[in-house]
Amino acid sequence: MGAGRYAPSPSGELHVGNLRTAMLAWLFARSSGREFILRIEDLDTARTAAGAEEAQLRDLAAIGLDFDTVSPRQSERLPVYAEALSELRDRGLLYECFCTRRDILDAPRAPHTPPGAYPGTCRHLSEAERAERRQHRPAAWRLATDHETVTVQDTLLGPITGQVDDVVVQRNDGTPAYNLAVVVDDHLTGVDQVVRADDLAFSSPRQAHLRGLLYGAAAADEVQYAHVPLVINGESQRLAKRDGAVTLSRLHDVGLSSERVRDLLLDSLGLPAGPLAGAVDGFDPAALPREPWVFEPPAGA
Ligand SMILES: [Zn+2]
Repeated sequence: MGAGRYAPSPSGELHVGNLRTAMLAWLFARSSGREFILRIEDLDTARTAAGAEEAQLRDLAAIGLDFDTVSPRQSERLPVYAEALSELRDRGLLYECFCTRRDILDAPRAPHTPPGAYPGTCRHLSEAERAERRQHRPAAWRLATDHETVTVQDTLLGPITGQVDDVVVQRNDGTPAYNLAVVVDDHLTGVDQVVRADDLAFSSPRQAHLRGLLYGAAAADEVQYAHVPLVINGESQRLAKRDGAVTLSRLHDVGLSSERVRDLLLDSLGLPAGPLAGAVDGFDPAALPREPWVFEPPAGA
């Protein structure tokens, strides 16, 4: 039996877009007989807000989501990531990068490369050049790729094809990068179903590539992806806290109970109101709406 997961960052309260994605992740896992795992992704300590994790757990429970396992926080798993990084390093798959963000933006690049894509500046430095640069700036570590094209299968989007790039796998403060931590955690906790918002779809080919490098092609192939539509505001922008009453606590303030919010989310997915268990049997990914859901926060309070 595999597992699905929901993996929030504790940067603040969840809004209805986050809650809807979490509900979908739960429904995908439960309807396919998988376990459901919660993982707190707190490596970006600058974004961690006091009390946010507790508030997120409370709100997820309030709309009826339960978890079989709460994974250790990512901040508690640094040795696990370090092991994966040293394996990649030992295999000669990583190289040191001394570039600043500015360096990367200013570097000459081939036509048609997206802005911010890494131009490969540090890949072929000599050992002497690296030694010199280490005097001035700690290195980040990047994955050396051949820019191969990788395709993953998505239940909702179909094939997602992307060219892998020399992503950072360890930041220059020593912290494992997001893509590395996600891949390691998913594999080691048995996650074979990734449900998340579709603005992250672009990262799945590179994560699949990294999973294949670390754990073999079969481990990469077993992952089922479902990138679900975003929730947007009345101006067609991604829903955000500034849009008003979009968190469960603010919705309570304007008179909507947790059950009412749960039912609104279920209705937005074409599913029957009531406890979530009632939506599991009839859950059919093929019948889910493929358009973003427009949420206009109720006025008041
Ligand atoms: Zn560099």
